[in-house]
Amino acid sequence: MQVLYKSTRGNEETVTASMAILKGLSEDGGLFVPTAVPKLDVPVEKLAQMSYQETAYEVMSRFLTDFTEEELKDCINKAYDSKFDTDKIAPIHEANGTFFLELFHGATIAFKDMALSILPHLMTTAARKNQAKNEIVILTATSGDTGKAAMAGFADVPGTRIIVFYPKNGVSPIQEKQMVTQKGANTYVVGITGNFDDAQTAVKNMFNDRVLAKELDEAGFQFSSANSINIGRLVPQIVYYVYAYASLVRDGKIKDGQEINVVVPTGNFGNILAAYYAKQMGLPIHKLICASNENRVLYDFFRTGIYDRKREFILTSSPSMDILISSNLERLIYRLTGDDSKKCAELMQSLSQGGEYSITEDMKAQLSDFYGNFCSEGETREAISATYYGGGYVIDPHTAVAAGVYQKYLRETGDTAPAVIASTASPYKFTRSVMNALSDRYEGLDDFGLVDALSSMSDIAVPKAVEEIRTAPVLHDRVVDAADMPSAVKNILGIQ
Ligand SMILES: *Cc1c(COP(=O)(O)O)cnc(C)c1O
Repeated sequence: MQVLYKSTRGNEETVTASMAILKGLSEDGGLFVPTAVPKLDVPVEKLAQMSYQETAYEVMSRFLTDFTEEELKDCINKAYDSKFDTDKIAPIHEANGTFFLELFHGATIAFKDMALSILPHLMTTAARKNQAKNEIVILTATSGDTGKAAMAGFADVPGTRIIVFYPKNGVSPIQEKQMVTQKGANTYVVGITGNFDDAQTAVKNMFNDRVLAKELDEAGFQFSSANSINIGRLVPQIVYYVYAYASLVRDGKIKDGQEINVVVPTGNFGNILAAYYAKQMGLPIHKLICASNENRVLYDFFRTGIYDRKREFILTSSPSMDILISSNLERLIYRLTGDDSKKCAELMQSLSQGGEYSITEDMKAQLSDFYGNFCSEGETREAISATYYGGGYVIDPHTAVAAGVYQKYLRETGDTAPAVIASTASPYKFTRSVMNALSDRYEGLDDFGLVDALSSMSDIAVPKAVEEIRTAPVLHDRVVDAADMPSAVKNILGIQ
């Protein structure tokens, strides 16, 4: 079955998977969605025997139907190799009666590596397939993790440049150090005075700017996106839910066909949307549990059916989830409207102009696959401490938000079906928050002192990604106002 892609805001026009990846965002400002979600037509008992790479091929080939088998396998093998520190790629750790799906074993120790180690290969393959004549400029807004993971993937990839914008005061010290020390002649890192939403909105506006697109084209460039608005980010993320399920069956932890719950610490709604697609493919998932931090816009949305971004933006200890405009929710909204792109475009316009939209009772009724809740900062610290002192396992603040929300879900519903918690970052990326949650003894230590303290109390070795930046020189120090992002881009590309 061929799968085509159309815009959540467009007419009936469709594009191939490779074209959707190459463009990133549709010209009408909408996101590309598959016209139909393919079925997972491989039996679990067969999947249970497969490696991560083999599973990736089974899942991704169902979505990216215009890639040849050779092209796709080549992309997969280049992505999921020794950049990961385990050949399982996404191992499961059982603690406190739940299954933590560790998505942080890649080059930058956060789950963004799962998709961003393959996106550059999908993108350059897509450019070749579509005879793109321009150099591809990847424009990325990051709340801390995407930027580094995207640069690690695109650094020195011929025919590409990558420009990353991050909120200057909105990321952890280790996240910032990782980015500003990035090597590669085609990488550019720019801090902005503003928050992640400001960066993301300005990036989306640049994508929709026809005049800018023309100027770029004349200079031999075209934009694409490494954010999860790119369908090439989402499809690789479906893989690990399928892999996790099959691994649990293989290890005798669950029975083939048994339903599980999936808990996802959520910001831009990309990771949980991938789990939703996995469920639509036929993977036995009962509830998709959407965990938010104090920026609880999604929790409020699930409760009331009103999405309201007009609220204070809170900086938390889980910065990669400090987001008030969850871009990928648009893909879910589109489905809830019954694939009505006109209705979806209206709702998105009301969000960008009035700061909110509300869905109908009918649409709200279809949200029953989801459960939403949030953790305060105090509850996040408690979850870190409870998981360590109760289960001997150190988790990062993002994963802790999910673990805390899962406890609320258990108390509210009594639903004890096996649960998989998406563990989205290594605790080494957020050492200060983690160590402060465990004890007040560590307050005097600097960031690398904390790294050493964490290493001596947990049995997890210091990841290479952290060792590398200890002494690495700062290579990027550009800071601009959010309003000046377009001129920064032109300046970087030498267009006046
Ligand atoms: C990006 C990120 C998230 C949020 O994922 P979304 O797909 O944006 O919802 C959660 N945790 C970490 C560590 C992240 O880097």
